[in-house]
Amino acid sequence: MTRKMLVAGNWKMNGLRAHLADIAAIGDAAKAHPGVEVGLYVPATLITAAAERADGIFVGAQDCHAKSTGAHTGCLGAAMLGEAGATSVIVGHSERRTDQHESDADIAAKALAARAEDLSVVLCVGESLETRDSGSAVSFVLDQLLASLPEGAAADWLSIAYEPIWAIGTGRIPTMEQIAEMHGAIRGALAARLGAETAAAMRILYGGSVNAGNAADIFTLEDVDGGLVGGASLKAETFGPIITAA
Ligand code: PGA
Repeated sequence: MTRKMLVAGNWKMNGLRAHLADIAAIGDAAKAHPGVEVGLYVPATLITAAAERADGIFVGAQDCHAKSTGAHTGCLGAAMLGEAGATSVIVGHSERRTDQHESDADIAAKALAARAEDLSVVLCVGESLETRDSGSAVSFVLDQLLASLPEGAAADWLSIAYEPIWAIGTGRIPTMEQIAEMHGAIRGALAARLGAETAAAMRILYGGSVNAGNAADIFTLEDVDGGLVGGASLKAETFGPIITAA
């Protein structure tokens, strides 16, 4: 099974119109590697302008509401994001699970809402340092994955991102053995739930302190199909080498 590598940037709450030139530069870096799919999950305020300039990359949103319309002040539905120019959405990022108290059921509902509007989805899972240190990281992540997995999950619209919370923005990453173990376990759980064929086709990204120095090693692991990159995705100078590594 050949899975196309996906390298996606998560800009989080960063990015003003002044940074649109960086998006163009990242597009140029991506165009040199047509074998790699590259995307940027930008703040909602930048989606339209980014999508207008995006050449060689897709533009996504960092969250969507589970409902399409209604009395939800400050929230954005998947149809709105699609109309703005997003073709994909991240759901279940640990920062939202923590800051917005999103549950696994909320996240599964958001993924379905995105799917209903033809947006692809990256579903994030990951353990805390406390869970890692207690030795139960794999069982925790598999439980979280299976509880957040939307109905009808399929490889043509859903990817999984394994992001250990303690590796996000810290410069610390798991050992290659720990990443390989977790990604293998995730693929095994997907096979048990969705069937071997779907599991073999579904991309599993690694996220958490991916940079130009560690990306090549991480991307050689068999069950790693790309990366979800935060800090290093803001500039072509740091994101470009990660795309090249894929
Ligand atoms: P980081 O963030 O690359 O800055 O660690 C990754 C993420 O949160 O998606």
